[in-house]
Amino acid sequence: MNIGLIGYGYWGKILLPKLEKLGKVKFICRSTDSYLDKLDNIDWVVVATPNQTHYEIVKNCLSKGVNVFCEKSLTLDYDTSLELYQIAEKNKCNLYVDDVFTFRKQVSEIKQSLDGVEEFDVVWEKVGRSDYGEFIMSSLYSLAWHDFYLLYQCVGNKVSDIIKIDTKNKLQFSLMLNDKKINFVYDRLSKTNKHSINNISLMHDGNDEDAIMSMFKYVFSESVDCEPNKNYTLFAAKLIDRLRKELFKNVNVVGGGIFGVTCAWMLSKNGYFVNLYERTGDILKSASGINQYRLHRGYHYPRSHETAISSKEGQDGFLKYYSESILKEVENYYCIAKDKSLVDKDTYIKFLDDLQLEYKEVDTDLTNDDALQLCLEVKESLFDSNKLKEICWDLLGKYLVKVNLNTEFGVEDLNDTLTINATYSLKNHLSTEKEDLQFELCEKPVVKLPDKYKNKSFVIMDGPFMCIDPYGDTGYHVMGNVVHAIHYSNTSKFPMMPSSMKKMINKGIVKNPIYTNIDKFKETIKLFFKGVDSIEHIGSMFTFRTVLPNRDYDDARPTIYKFEKDNLITIFSGKIGTCVDTAENIIGDLINE
Ligand SMILES: Cc1cc2nc3c(=O)[nH]c(=O)nc-3n(C[C@H](O)[C@H](O)[C@H](O)COP(=O)(O)OP(=O)(O)OC[C@H]3O[C@@H](n4cnc5c(N)ncnc54)[C@H](O)[C@@H]3O)c2cc1C
Repeated sequence: MNIGLIGYGYWGKILLPKLEKLGKVKFICRSTDSYLDKLDNIDWVVVATPNQTHYEIVKNCLSKGVNVFCEKSLTLDYDTSLELYQIAEKNKCNLYVDDVFTFRKQVSEIKQSLDGVEEFDVVWEKVGRSDYGEFIMSSLYSLAWHDFYLLYQCVGNKVSDIIKIDTKNKLQFSLMLNDKKINFVYDRLSKTNKHSINNISLMHDGNDEDAIMSMFKYVFSESVDCEPNKNYTLFAAKLIDRLRKELFKNVNVVGGGIFGVTCAWMLSKNGYFVNLYERTGDILKSASGINQYRLHRGYHYPRSHETAISSKEGQDGFLKYYSESILKEVENYYCIAKDKSLVDKDTYIKFLDDLQLEYKEVDTDLTNDDALQLCLEVKESLFDSNKLKEICWDLLGKYLVKVNLNTEFGVEDLNDTLTINATYSLKNHLSTEKEDLQFELCEKPVVKLPDKYKNKSFVIMDGPFMCIDPYGDTGYHVMGNVVHAIHYSNTSKFPMMPSSMKKMINKGIVKNPIYTNIDKFKETIKLFFKGVDSIEHIGSMFTFRTVLPNRDYDDARPTIYKFEKDNLITIFSGKIGTCVDTAENIIGDLINE
């Protein structure tokens, strides 16, 4: 028998020697490696990856007609679990979910002990010292899952009532199952180590290895019957759905930009049951994926101290979770143009001193000194938006946020459930208080600059000027231009644009775009920089920037959130670095409510 193992972390390493005893392990890979080209002639794939990755992997393997053994929990909800069984049936494949406790010798003892018993306890103690949100979710998906399929086999499947006892320090609840009252406690802080059902211990007793082997021997045998396993897998999935809804506060977060994503995983970390809705097929596809990638510290905002201060303060929160997205080795320069600048050299220096923003006056051989009154090397950073997206997916997965992609959340979906509207340029669709905003359809050209510009970021201040910034680890730069970046602008409730531009918006890099101001970008760069006569235009990205109207005088970019009603919070974001502070403030307000 040929076996493929997907997932080679802690548990995959434990499974491998056992699988090697039962068949030929033809490939081993991690959840992020490609496995689709390895599935030919494989009889069983064993999936031992993080829970949130199961759905995609199992679906792909079953669709290719391969039998799958998957670690529990199969998926994060009943609907997707059911879908996988339907795919298995269609492709005539076996799908079996880890039920190792079924193969423990204590199961028949537990069954007998429950005869005539009306109430009993299920106890897990010292289940881990992970943080609160992780503990709650892993208690449900990794620990309670075992108890649920055992109880299905020992008691039945009719759940009539769920009673919440504690979800703060322990996960503690009772439920009525076929008229028996079962009291569950999952206690991460207990000093003792325990797992029992009706006082019969299910702790490892040296026979565990045999249980895993017995399970695999049965799964890989001719006589395997997946039907009972399917029934109690779906029972566990449905019960967890119900528990998530009934034990925890539910929140809908609308918008998979950096603000929605950050609110979603942080709320989940704090014990909320979060559904995140994103109308496109991925997170961070709109303004959060197409911008100038600057983690502002304030240098950009000499005319709005409020924006400068919130940027400076916000970046610490951002770095706490997203620091791995920061580009290393980039030199950052801010220059003041000689003509038409709204801020002069002395005022700018005073502003930096007042805000304690570090700087060093420099001469670079890249800039045209005739066009500048000041050039400073400063301490600011840029982030790699692809890396940021990876971190966001990891955090959404770690805290088991239910992410609904390709799902537009409409006004008709607003109900009693708390909803966070983080839709930025489309904010007014869900807002009860529709405000005028200034919408700017922007172009961000991606270019190849001469090598001497590698890892160098320049901003020309302060007015109708430009900037160039390294674009992730691509070796390219992304260009900004206060005037020429904007193709279309309107101030009203909703963004407007020529319909012919629609297919370019939020589509990543568009090669040879039919509309582009690249020639004007190139003209401006030549005013301030040397050796930039032949710049290669790789393509351009297009998205909407949304700012407060009539604020050209100070260019302020505050992040504002409001409780519009008891159950609707709307975020209007200014600078990306403030996303963590904003999520923390919202959670603080909700807790203090
Ligand atoms: C050209 C440009 C350059 C910028 N440069 C910088 C910079 O260098 N540094 C900085 O800090 N900031 C910058 N900004 C600002 C920053 O990009 C935004 O403030 C921030 O990314 C907005 O994040 P968000 O999560 O609020 O919105 P978005 O990232 O726009 O996400 C909102 C999401 O909501 C989704 N959505 C909308 N309606 C619905 C619905 N009804 N149902 C489901 N989903 C929905 C959208 O598809 C979208 O994915 C720039 C912005 C632009 C446009």
